[in-house]
Amino acid sequence: MRKVLLQFDSDRAPSVFDAITAHDAGAEVLLQYGGVRPEEVRDLVYGAMFTRGVPDLKNSAVFIGGTDVALGEAMLREVQGAFFGPMRVSVMLDANGCNTTATAAVVKMLSVGDLSGKMAVVLAGTGPVGQRAAALLAKAGVEVTLTSRTLDRAKSVCEALGERFGVGVSPAATPDAGATQAVLEGAHAVLCAGAAGVTLVEEEVWRPHPTLRALADVNAVPPLGVGGIEVTWDGKEIEGKTLFGAIGIGEFKMKVHRRCIAQLFEQSDSVLDAEEIFVLAAGLAE
Ligand code: NAP
Repeated sequence: MRKVLLQFDSDRAPSVFDAITAHDAGAEVLLQYGGVRPEEVRDLVYGAMFTRGVPDLKNSAVFIGGTDVALGEAMLREVQGAFFGPMRVSVMLDANGCNTTATAAVVKMLSVGDLSGKMAVVLAGTGPVGQRAAALLAKAGVEVTLTSRTLDRAKSVCEALGERFGVGVSPAATPDAGATQAVLEGAHAVLCAGAAGVTLVEEEVWRPHPTLRALADVNAVPPLGVGGIEVTWDGKEIEGKTLFGAIGIGEFKMKVHRRCIAQLFEQSDSVLDAEEIFVLAAGLAE
């Protein structure tokens, strides 16, 4: 029986990146749906649930993508709401690469050493990648501060993370370089999770920093999030610090993405969201 992946994408044209990755990961048939809205999901999922017998449902699965992460999250809720009893298929959420990117970055940061009880800062952490990374670090016992250019935005994101992930993350405002430097005081690790093309930590700040040990950057578009870094760095040691650039993290992210797709076809009841993808990524890194 052939492995059929349904690709639900909130964008009009479903992501080519996600489609190629699905094929590379072993999906034999890809059914692509673009411009999907949450209210349309139930009927699409029913098509996957009722065509194959229960023992064969593991050969059908759903991938949710699209640049709008909030729509992706709403679609995931609808997919899960359509299931009943054994009538279900496995599903993965990776809208805009948020889960695979965040988990890959966090696994890299944690590989530098035990961060539990230590302080990590997720700079410009209000986007989908930063939010998930902050939550996963907090779940790993790290004292996390999440920053935004505005304190109100940082606060509301931290509140939402408390509700969604049950973790405490401290909000901070970093409207300028001075505020960023202040928030990094005493920090052991930093993740630059800002929008593409925005430098958040200058080289002259991180190089002499007395406590920073791990720096990660998910922005691959120059200028990079960490000044003086190279995108391909994957554990580069400089001045007692270990640095990960966006491509260094991205190569691992691709492995995680492919492994997730393969796992969808191993059973019919996998739900791969941030926490589950993190477990899988941590296992891959061992
Ligand atoms: P995002 O939502 O585009 O941006 C994250 C945050 O950056 C925003 O919430 C905003 O925070 C801050 N920001 C925007 N413009 C800024 C500026 N001029 N100065 C300072 N801060 C600014 O990011 P995302 O989608 O979570 O992605 C994070 C990074 O990961 C991006 O660089 C993206 O390209 C990269 N990414 C890589 C992959 C991959 O596969 N390798 C996948 C997804 C994302 P405030 O408004 O709260 O300050």
